[in-house]
Amino acid sequence: HLMELVDFCTRVVEQMKVTTGDRHQIQLIVHTEKISALMDSQLLRQILNNLFSNAIKYSPQGGEITLELSIEYGPVTTNPHHPSSVVVFRIKDPGIGIPQQDLQQLFESFQRATNVGTIRGTGLGLAIVKKCVELHGGHIEIESQIDKGSTFIVKIPLQTPS
Ligand code: ATP
Ligand code: MG
Repeated sequence: HLMELVDFCTRVVEQMKVTTGDRHQIQLIVHTEKISALMDSQLLRQILNNLFSNAIKYSPQGGEITLELSIEYGPVTTNPHHPSSVVVFRIKDPGIGIPQQDLQQLFESFQRATNVGTIRGTGLGLAIVKKCVELHGGHIEIESQIDKGSTFIVKIPLQTPS
């Protein structure tokens, strides 16, 4: 489906602000012009909602959570089916962080990190996110520091309409 990413992310963030009330501050930072891309809006919503839900759940009250949207432009190609540019979504939180030795398994179903304490969860969100990202031919990375926070980085090849 053809969708406009800046407006879409704005709507997702506005919705999140409503759901969280003033428990957290949620910000959208956009580093691109409006851009139309061929993506499945349902899957993208799954990705962003799950990552936001984690950012909220594993961060202290009042913490600032950001979604940054940008495009990394690659060399110009003539084949629209092999785009070299990617859309980058970065979701950053000031939460509990993830131990280095747990990072590998977190995208598998029912896997949780060892530092969750009493925070409840089933361990399925990230498995769903990974599926949705891969269905778009993309990949996901985590940068995290214990007690400092985490950033989930989703990169998806940018297929623009020809
Ligand atoms: P649910 O299925 O309800 O989403 P969950 O949040 O426990 O449960 P995932 O979303 O799959 O499961 O996340 C897996 C694990 O990764 C979490 O249990 C937690 O240990 C860790 N994790 C995920 N996101 C974060 C985050 N933003 N900060 C710290 N730890 C996180
Ligand atoms: Mg979760």
